[in-house]
Amino acid sequence: MIKLKANYVLTMNEKNEIIENGEVIFDKKIIKVGKNLEKNIKTIDLGKNSVLMPGLINTHTHLEFSANQTTLIYGDFISWLNSVIAKRENLLNDCRSHCYQKAINQMKKSGVVAFGEISSTGLDLEQLKKTELKVVYFNEIIGSNPAAIDALYQDFLNRLNESEKYKSEKFIPSISIHSPYSVHPLIIKKALDIARKKNMIVSAHFMESQAEREWLDNNKGDFKIFFKQNLNQEKAVTSTIEFLSQFEQVKTHFIHGVWANEKELQKISSMNASIAHCPVSNRLLNTGLLDIERVKNLQIPYSVATDGLSSNYSLNLFKEIRTSLFMHTGLHPKYLAKDLIKSVTKNAGDILNLNNGSIEVGKFADLISFKLSKCLNIEDLYLQIILHINEIEKMWINGKKIEI
Ligand SMILES: [Zn+2]
Repeated sequence: MIKLKANYVLTMNEKNEIIENGEVIFDKKIIKVGKNLEKNIKTIDLGKNSVLMPGLINTHTHLEFSANQTTLIYGDFISWLNSVIAKRENLLNDCRSHCYQKAINQMKKSGVVAFGEISSTGLDLEQLKKTELKVVYFNEIIGSNPAAIDALYQDFLNRLNESEKYKSEKFIPSISIHSPYSVHPLIIKKALDIARKKNMIVSAHFMESQAEREWLDNNKGDFKIFFKQNLNQEKAVTSTIEFLSQFEQVKTHFIHGVWANEKELQKISSMNASIAHCPVSNRLLNTGLLDIERVKNLQIPYSVATDGLSSNYSLNLFKEIRTSLFMHTGLHPKYLAKDLIKSVTKNAGDILNLNNGSIEVGKFADLISFKLSKCLNIEDLYLQIILHINEIEKMWINGKKIEI
């Protein structure tokens, strides 16, 4: 059992309490939160200007593509997708253990204690099964051509089974459906039956681009040429509502949702699903900006996430929320700052079912600390953190100190 003392404790609890000169007692989980707690416990004073808060959670990454820096084409979704297809093998082969370690270290330094990884090949398993950070490992299924789906499904099953061998409190194997345009409904059904049976969280890209919108609505747009050339396919394999309906009774994290319409968002809301907001990725592929107010008004929980280095320049989650702050110009910066920090702590922890993301009794002691000069107004703390923090000083996961 240990007690930490900080100038500011950001609890991210329901009331968003900030405790000045606060203390937190924990072992693996948080035992007590408050001021002037028990004295006869080993105490670490985090010092002058210290902030203690829940560790950040990045709900959507693709670490397999971490070798990308300048290889892929940005500025247009379909051009980017074509470049991914052309360079995919090279990028996968170029990401060896050092490349994964670099990516994980960048996340760790920016305060990330847990992340949701989309694994399309299983090549990342070796590195991720042993990382100190918590991982929700989404085995991804892809394949829209009926002639190929049996083999692709079997490959998915093999990867899922392999990842389940390493299931632990910190490594949680799960399932990802690539998207409505790229996965045949027959294998979506089979994969989601497994998710229901095993009570797994599922992730799925949804309505990322205008091309996706036009293809699924009218079998038109940029995807028409793409599917004709690559798969000799004339029609989308599903409609959006058919696709969403398949996720009933599955806890689902939809990724992007930028082009989702009112009906689809209502459906997502009615299923208690969530959305990952990846503003840098969306900006680089020029696919637009998620209307987070619309999402919130429909009671859909959202998390800001980095996506992979295949469509971002950094996996630093503080940088990602700073960018979000500057992109959503219609929202008040102070109000938005608090909401963004909530999205990468409490919301993200709930989305990935991790029982962390807030400093409350019974939650896992996944904590970070850093220094920030005294704020004249305590409510400015969220905004000042977003403006000034790139890297953290200390981290605990399940109550254990992690070297940064
Ligand atoms: Zn993605």
